[in-house]
Amino acid sequence: MLTEQDCTVVELPKVDTRLITPKAPAIARVVGNLPCTYGKSNSWVRNVAIDVSATALAGKIRIGQAFGIIPPGTDEDGKPHKVRLYSIASPDAGEDGRGNILCTPVKRTIAEFDPEIGGNRRAHRGMFMGACSNYLCNLSVGDEVLVTGPAGKRFLLPADAERHDYVFIATGTGIAPYRGMVLQLLKGPAGPTRRDIWLLAGAPYTSDLLYHELFLEIEREFDNFHYLQAVSREPHAPGELRGIYVDRLLVSHLERLGPVLERPSTLLYLCGIAGMQFSIYRRLALLGLLDGYAVPKSDICVTSPADWTSTQMRRGLRATARCMIEVY
Ligand SMILES: Cc1cc2nc3c(=O)[nH]c(=O)nc-3n(C[C@H](O)[C@H](O)[C@H](O)COP(=O)(O)OP(=O)(O)OC[C@H]3O[C@@H](n4cnc5c(N)ncnc54)[C@H](O)[C@@H]3O)c2cc1C
Repeated sequence: MLTEQDCTVVELPKVDTRLITPKAPAIARVVGNLPCTYGKSNSWVRNVAIDVSATALAGKIRIGQAFGIIPPGTDEDGKPHKVRLYSIASPDAGEDGRGNILCTPVKRTIAEFDPEIGGNRRAHRGMFMGACSNYLCNLSVGDEVLVTGPAGKRFLLPADAERHDYVFIATGTGIAPYRGMVLQLLKGPAGPTRRDIWLLAGAPYTSDLLYHELFLEIEREFDNFHYLQAVSREPHAPGELRGIYVDRLLVSHLERLGPVLERPSTLLYLCGIAGMQFSIYRRLALLGLLDGYAVPKSDICVTSPADWTSTQMRRGLRATARCMIEVY
């Protein structure tokens, strides 16, 4: 029988990577392209489904991994566009049950043009349109697309999923891998897990919560799946002026989340915008719950967690085997 201690040893499955390299990308085909925001949203995110059956990715991608897309054309310096990575949002068996159709939520990157960032630094006016995200969002069913991958060896479900409980924390498109993980754990071939799964999703507006209806539906179906949302730019509750960021959910649901996070069997996954791991680290440390997920590398402990800066945390904390991080 496993001891509590054994649960802290996290065995990850062996996965394939770089079966298709950017030097020799493979041709796949778009089979779906629909919005995956909640109602009318100002940030356009589309769930793009791609048939990879004619490529080496077929049946080889594990949930938590990403695949690469190479947009056509050249960048501002006239060089061919580089590969961009997109997290797989499908379970291991894909959308079709055989690992042939993979989906990912693609957020259109749109910004005001900044000539300082542009390759040749010409003065531009108008909007900067991200090359790959807008290309992908504009594709139609039947269009060909160049793919590479898989990428990623660590942001994975453990080899023996039944040994662990799960706290998944996301901002924005960081929710992508959790769609697949939740489907894998609750609707996968091994049957529904009885372990606890908590999904904490952060977005600026309610309409930006991705796959929101799907998660609400799964929450109604499985009493061990808990789905919490943090909306930052809408009042959090009647009478309040502000919204909340995702780390605040750890406080507002401490009574139930605290004991889950204290279990040695629990794995913590953080996915989304670069830097989000630091607000979670800080919050966990303030709640006395960081042990087991990150360990100090330097003298960070002499400072109060409330004063920890991102730079200090980047240098001073190391994620343990129970903490998986994918930020971009
Ligand atoms: C592991 C991993 C997983 C990922 N998963 C997802 C996912 O599931 N979904 C998703 O949508 N994305 C995901 N991404 C991000 C994705 O790879 C791309 O970075 C993203 O789609 C933007 O690519 P793009 O080609 O549209 O933008 P790019 O053309 O590469 O532009 C990128 C950034 O540069 C800025 N920029 C560049 N030049 C200028 C300029 N001249 N003026 C102003 N701004 C400029 C843009 O504002 C933009 O923020 C992931 C990344 C990683 C590393």
